[in-house]
Amino acid sequence: HMTTATQYVDRLTATIPDFPTPGILFRDLTPVFADADAFRAIIDELASRFEGRFDAVAGVEARGFLLAAAVAYATHTRLVPIRKAGKLPGEVLREDYGLEYGAAALELRTEQLPAGTRVLILDDVLATGGSCGAAVNLIERAGYEVAGLGLVLELEGLPGRASLSGRDVFSIATAP
Ligand code: AMP
Repeated sequence: HMTTATQYVDRLTATIPDFPTPGILFRDLTPVFADADAFRAIIDELASRFEGRFDAVAGVEARGFLLAAAVAYATHTRLVPIRKAGKLPGEVLREDYGLEYGAAALELRTEQLPAGTRVLILDDVLATGGSCGAAVNLIERAGYEVAGLGLVLELEGLPGRASLSGRDVFSIATAP
């Protein structure tokens, strides 16, 4: 029988205690990406869940890039990076936010897409929702529409999903 994307994520995700700092239970998806069948399954699942509802894919640096490039290619849609502060040249929008381990800022180039473009935001893990919330704000401040948010793994017991209320948030798998 066929293994589903959810089964691959449940089976292959590695859990590493105290990384990158004490107290963090780190969910490592690199074994999922390193399995060719699992990677295809998660890309196809993200693409089909939002099929026909987006014209561009935005990946959140860095692990969101791995997903966004593949989904944009598979669906023949546009691709834009949401980068950590200081990486993008030219005119950028910036959002500062708090992280499970530290503070961060994300940036988006302006005028990369036509006004009103429907953008699917992708990242690997939904934890506090800080990164996804910042990505949503950047996409809307730039004049685009948020089609939804796609994640490989959603951590329960953190305010991620609640912080994105009203948004179409899809996670392939969940973990405690
Ligand atoms: P957050 O902004 O808190 O939702 O965190 C999301 C970002 O931090 C994602 O891009 C994840 O890659 C990373 N992250 C946060 N917490 C974890 C965790 N426990 N395991 C793996 N990655 C995490």
